[in-house]
Amino acid sequence: MKYLNHDVVFREFPDEVTLAINLTGCPNRCPGCHSPALQEDAGDELTETRLAALVEGRERLITCVGFMGGDARPEEVIRLAAYVKLRWPWLRTGWYSGRSVTPPSLGLSSLDYLKLGPYVAARGPLDRPTTNQRLYRLYGDGRREDLTPRFWNNA
Ligand code: SF4
Repeated sequence: MKYLNHDVVFREFPDEVTLAINLTGCPNRCPGCHSPALQEDAGDELTETRLAALVEGRERLITCVGFMGGDARPEEVIRLAAYVKLRWPWLRTGWYSGRSVTPPSLGLSSLDYLKLGPYVAARGPLDRPTTNQRLYRLYGDGRREDLTPRFWNNA
């Protein structure tokens, strides 16, 4: 699984300072894709070593690591999220998937946040009340809380 770039972001996961890692090789092919570069098989391999290099030095400044994309390798997203939890237990983890549902066999216990839904231009992204996308807070007991309305204050 490869990534193109990374950034520290503030809006993608509410109340979190997130190291967002933009993963490439997206298979979803949403019409009107807002990030076509992420459909390419481009960038560097996101190994545990590379992930650690991205986090180290920021681990007390950020509160969350966000995996943005990665739908070609969901099991690898989960594996790396588990690595984050093991190595930096105080950090939360999130995944921005373009799928409508996750594969049934995929365990989500290493994720604190999950965004679901393809990009549909006519419905808009998460910050539009018309959006088809949803951002969930995941809890250890299996509950999920829909945080999507938190994005609409600035819509
Ligand atoms: S999920 Fe995102 S990157 Fe992938 S095709 Fe859809 S809009 Fe583009």
